Amino acid sequence: MTVFEYAPAPESRAIVDIRASYGLFVDGAFVEGRGTAFKTVNPATEEVLAEVAEASDADVNTAVAAARKAYEKVWSRMSGAERAKYLYRIARIIQERSRELAVLESIDNGKPIKESRDVDVPTAAAYFFYYAGWADKLEHSGYGTTPLGVAAQVIPWNFPLLMLAWKIAPALACGNTVVLKPAETTPLTALLFAEICQQADLPPGVVNIVTGAGATGHALVGHASVDKVAFTGSTEVGKAIARTVAGTTKKVTLELGGKAANIVFDDAPLDQAVEGIVNGIFFNQGHVCCAGSRLLVQESIADDLLARLKRRMSTLRLGDPLDKNTDIGAINSREQLERIRALCDIGEAEGAERWAPACDLPSAGFWFPPTLFTGVTQAHRIAREEVFGPVLSVLTFRTPAEAVEKANNTPYGLSAGVWSDKGSLILKVAAQLRAGVVWANTFNKFDPTSPFGGYQESGYGREGGRHGLAAYLKGHQ
Ligand code: NAP
Ligand code: MG
Repeated sequence: MTVFEYAPAPESRAIVDIRASYGLFVDGAFVEGRGTAFKTVNPATEEVLAEVAEASDADVNTAVAAARKAYEKVWSRMSGAERAKYLYRIARIIQERSRELAVLESIDNGKPIKESRDVDVPTAAAYFFYYAGWADKLEHSGYGTTPLGVAAQVIPWNFPLLMLAWKIAPALACGNTVVLKPAETTPLTALLFAEICQQADLPPGVVNIVTGAGATGHALVGHASVDKVAFTGSTEVGKAIARTVAGTTKKVTLELGGKAANIVFDDAPLDQAVEGIVNGIFFNQGHVCCAGSRLLVQESIADDLLARLKRRMSTLRLGDPLDKNTDIGAINSREQLERIRALCDIGEAEGAERWAPACDLPSAGFWFPPTLFTGVTQAHRIAREEVFGPVLSVLTFRTPAEAVEKANNTPYGLSAGVWSDKGSLILKVAAQLRAGVVWANTFNKFDPTSPFGGYQESGYGREGGRHGLAAYLKGHQ
């Protein structure tokens, strides 16, 4: 038998010009920060990529003032049709510069290039195209036409450019201006986006990017002169933000964590379900708020399904995020890697059985193999808490009612998956699941026309679709 040596197929990083240092993007220009600059690293190699300015409280002040001025003097006075031209222009530039954005995203975040290239960047462009279309049609939105003013937006590190698009596109379409803080570990695509705003001739101050860590985010959401707070990240920080803005007139949307159930019934097409399970939990290293992190499988097919799943997991290729064949890239940071390790150790200590395929981890960088826990009970912490890594907990059920009860036994409520050959069963189960999104015979599908958001500790408000406009227009929650 011929044995083939694996030949890597890395995407060239020559297309990206990473500067040695970056300032803040305020009032249409890059300016120095008054805080202590920090470094962003490539999590696959630990190489320092650039030094990034930290926005102090005073810098946040300046950025909010710039956004306020642009709101009052320019953006809120412009017709929707004019605003749309800018949004379409931004969408087209994202497409034109898509390779550059994808490579930069993979280098700064650690995600596989095939995901940044085929999902993150095209979907980010799609959100700008979609909301550009709404800008001159707000009277048909059902939520009025009056913008709120200045939006403070804080986003996480798992989908840096895509979360930026989810936040900025609807805000601008509705006539608001924004100050956005990217996550400390993944600021680079937001800074490239700032250049795209310049390239699109977006009026100064309409978009401002303030880099920094939690303190910068805290200063931004607590600023007296912002009218809207939009946050995506952990439930813990989301709760702190809700406390900060309580008692003010600021409108708030929170997109927080999740612990989605992916429910497989005995009549499901099993090989398709295995692909959906793999996509549900190993896409983006499991750093996904709506990840299908709890597999609920009907007892009668559990052995068969798990055997197929293990076989499939053994074929996943982990390694260089820029290699076009890589399925699982690097964990975004050492802190996140340590969180994942700690929760997995607890899973074992609590009695669940841990399995991972044989997998060589690179010596530098932050890596975690695709991992499966069986023998999990609902009381186990790995079944209750968000791991936010490539770790799947498997539970079994006997009846649809038991599946629904177990799926809903979580403080979260962001997403769920149902796999069955019977449409009637899917509809019946989906109607009983307390989750913002339920995917049927598929998983992790995102589309700008479709609203996304959660129940309970997964937050409130919707992003995407017509519903996503409500968060940025006056008088409607
Ligand atoms: P996080 O702390 O909630 O970070 C989200 C964003 O909020 C980041 O930009 C962060 O800044 C900023 N931030 C932190 N403290 C803040 C504060 N007091 N006020 C305002 N903004 C603040 O999330 P994380 O620490 O990166 O991850 C922790 C856990 O959260 C993960 O293990 C995962 O379970 C969950 N998570 C969920 C999502 C999601 O999409 N639902 C995304 C990321 C993480 P810096 O990052 O720059 O410090
Ligand atoms: Mg980084």
